[in-house]
Amino acid sequence: MHPCPHCQHTGVSTLAKLGSAYFAAATCQHCGKHSLIPGRAGHKALILWILLTWVFIGVAMFQQMSIYMLGTIPAFILAIDKCMLSEPLQPCQ
Ligand SMILES: [Zn+2]
Repeated sequence: MHPCPHCQHTGVSTLAKLGSAYFAAATCQHCGKHSLIPGRAGHKALILWILLTWVFIGVAMFQQMSIYMLGTIPAFILAIDKCMLSEPLQPCQ
């Protein structure tokens, strides 16, 4: 759960927070008000994931072992955690 910018209680779920970047505003379970993370956080996460995936592509080609391509999965989780979940929610008007 993540802190709500309106009431400061931890009333926003992780899934709602992630969805607020592109789909629908996150609703606080405590006060019912809406908030979202800025779209640039999602873009930063996507760019970081793509760059890290290209690093793993390079390592896989250099080592001639495609198993290194599985590195894209932890790279995706890292990008979501560092760029989107760490971003504070902003209140909707
Ligand atoms: Zn709230």
